[in-house]
Amino acid sequence: MSDADESTTRAAGGAPARPPALVVPRSIYDAMAAHCVRDAPLEACGLLVGHPPRALSIHPLRNELASATRYNADPRDILDAVRAMRPLGREIVAIYHSHPSSRAFPSRVDLAENHYGEIPRIIVSLLENPPETRVWRLDPASYVELIWRIDDAPA
Ligand SMILES: [Zn+2]
Repeated sequence: MSDADESTTRAAGGAPARPPALVVPRSIYDAMAAHCVRDAPLEACGLLVGHPPRALSIHPLRNELASATRYNADPRDILDAVRAMRPLGREIVAIYHSHPSSRAFPSRVDLAENHYGEIPRIIVSLLENPPETRVWRLDPASYVELIWRIDDAPA
């Protein structure tokens, strides 16, 4: 994917190569993108779960705000996802949400309502087809783009 290649190149910037913060199998990436497209024009959100940095499963969550510009994951859906991953020894490796009509950069609301610490945030922009996907670490007043990649090997 050109998105991943671009961020790798840009984030490296001549510095020594670093391991990716997130590795997403192709099948999970495709399911995430399909969820975002399905819920448009509303924002979609969900969890990728696995063993960091590798995602092993996807858990779409309902956006209880049913909004085109912001999201809040349904707490019951989060609970279900956590219950499913614990017996498998898995953890949340990324949180995704879509931007149906803006680019894949964090919004002011994304920064202000960042309750999940350093877990990588995936933003899927539906402005283009195929979607533009970028991964970020969000802090209250800033954000850093993370290196990630899609893995075409079977999940
Ligand atoms: Zn956002």
